[in-house]
Amino acid sequence: MIYLDNAATTKVCREAADAAYYAMTEVFGNPSSLHRLGIEAEKLISFSKEIISGALGGQPSEIIFTSGATESNNLAISGLAENYGRRKKKIVTTAVEHPSVLEPMKKLAAKGYELTVVEPDENGEITEEALVSAVDGDTCLVSAMLVNNETGYVLPIERSFSRIKKLYPECLTHCDCVQGFMKLPIRVKSLSADAVSLSGHKIHAPKGVGALWIKKGVRVAPNVFGGGQQSGIRSGTEPVPLIYAFAKAVETLVPTLPQRYDHASEIRDYAVKKLSEAGVLINSKSSASPYILSVSLPQIKSETLLHFLESRDIYVSSGSACSKGKKSEVLEAFRLLDGIIDSTVRISTSFETSKSDIDTLAEAFKEASTTLVKSTKIRRV
Ligand code: PMP
Repeated sequence: MIYLDNAATTKVCREAADAAYYAMTEVFGNPSSLHRLGIEAEKLISFSKEIISGALGGQPSEIIFTSGATESNNLAISGLAENYGRRKKKIVTTAVEHPSVLEPMKKLAAKGYELTVVEPDENGEITEEALVSAVDGDTCLVSAMLVNNETGYVLPIERSFSRIKKLYPECLTHCDCVQGFMKLPIRVKSLSADAVSLSGHKIHAPKGVGALWIKKGVRVAPNVFGGGQQSGIRSGTEPVPLIYAFAKAVETLVPTLPQRYDHASEIRDYAVKKLSEAGVLINSKSSASPYILSVSLPQIKSETLLHFLESRDIYVSSGSACSKGKKSEVLEAFRLLDGIIDSTVRISTSFETSKSDIDTLAEAFKEASTTLVKSTKIRRV
């Protein structure tokens, strides 16, 4: 099997799986319980906060665990707007965000907020200038992602957010770092972010766990109400096995970040060469995250190609896994042509991806372009 859909989800690493098993079978107390088992479970959460905040250059008390980045994004956007958007009613985001950012933003717009959506320019770039000039003194929140999940495009967050903060210190900044975390070096301070969303299952931890880093002193109103766990920001018994597994995945990945980045770059460059030779068009920019490569095989529909590759035991996504057959609005926003969007597949690698996997992929693409194009030819009479 050749798994090239790591931006959709990843295989859980041994360290994370062992940690989940340990927490499920040995440290299974409720972290709110006052007895020894509860205290031990609470210790695993404290350890996890330390590891995850440390990987971002933040403080343990700044981490709130969630069910995943969808919840983190929703919590950040609605929770910050609720606390900081009473007088300032403008909110800003980009056209290439994940739906878990765009949808809560649209919900706020329906409630009366004035939403500005920054579009990529004619070169498919979201410039620092465009982001900064979308914000003004009445803006309470700007949310923009670090790495786009469909193309790997890296947004100029550090420079934009730091300028926004200098110009409008009261404007809150949120960054969806899901596709950048553990892949690019991220320091919340240099990002000038007030809140950062993370997901476990994109970094070899299980599905169902994520985190929201919230800068000390910044107040996020809760979305979920109940027993008051996690300082009342996210009620509900913490899923200790998932949280501990998330932390163990981070702990395992941190020391190898530079090597993994170099490996991903080497594989990406090799894939660009091999796939171009096979007649594949490369949509991602050379400056994109090396972990994601958006490509198109003109005249073959994404889904047809995806299933063809699947029949060769190669797994990729059409656009992004979340768009499930729908035409990608994000690729449209990036100015890809309709015919190209319809033929796009996303290749996303991990440290397990080898050059020989890419050779096999390139061969499969060649085969697809001969067999599939032939079989879909229209006969005119
Ligand atoms: N943001 C981005 C950029 C993503 O790629 C994803 C996952 N596709 C999410 C948010 C949502 O993450 P989760 O699956 O953890 O809810």
